[in-house]
Amino acid sequence: MKIRVLGCSGAISQGCRTTSFLVDESILIDAGTGVGDLTLAEMVAIDHVFLTHSHLDHIAALPLMIDSVAALRSAPLQVHALPETIVALRTHVFNDVIWPDFSRIPSSAAPFVRFVPLATGEVRQVAGTTLEVLPADHTVPAVGYAVQGERGWWVFSGDTGRNPAFWKRVNALPVAMLVIETAFSNRERALAERSKHLSSDSLALELAQFERASECPICITHTKPSETRLIYEEVCRFDARVTGGTPGTHDIRWLEAGQVFDV
Ligand SMILES: [Zn+2]
Ligand SMILES: [Zn+2]
Repeated sequence: MKIRVLGCSGAISQGCRTTSFLVDESILIDAGTGVGDLTLAEMVAIDHVFLTHSHLDHIAALPLMIDSVAALRSAPLQVHALPETIVALRTHVFNDVIWPDFSRIPSSAAPFVRFVPLATGEVRQVAGTTLEVLPADHTVPAVGYAVQGERGWWVFSGDTGRNPAFWKRVNALPVAMLVIETAFSNRERALAERSKHLSSDSLALELAQFERASECPICITHTKPSETRLIYEEVCRFDARVTGGTPGTHDIRWLEAGQVFDV
């Protein structure tokens, strides 16, 4: 299984794109601004989008992408998300004011988009790939995902604050790669808590619960561009072994748009 990082930033600026990962050719996890780097042919090949939650940085490219591919696809694009996320998208985005309701265009019987509700804990198989919906604890209903590859599971935290339920499940999986958010530095600790994100110190506390923490790469995602340097320095301080550095507790890596991983 190939995971291509389209976007892994907490906000936009030159070279920074928001959350989106392409799994092989036909599955997209979140639809942040990174989707804009796909060619039209690559976008047309996507049959399933799995959303972690309704926040704009994770859905921004979805309405635009549907418009790009609609006329070129024969089957509806399936958008998998929590029921609350689907309601939010219908109410605030696909409401015929901000964007057309593509779940009723060109007709309700054969629309360009079909919303498919999912639940935390559910295992779903699409396009020959198995995905499990993981718990997340964020300011709106949210999930993470585990995707089964040939060498183990690719695990993505989604946007979340401290999350014991996540580790309870993840510790039972043979994890090949963990992608975990760290939106803020310790300087913004209070903001991180209020907005239910992790900061460098809470990342350290979370990783202490991960039983395979020394066995698989740990990739940091969703850093704010203005905070990335500081978060990097703080994580280096609590953890000596950043890739290329001296041996330590964790194999911590910084995600960048354009990276492709074999899992
Ligand atoms: Zn969020
Ligand atoms: Zn986010």
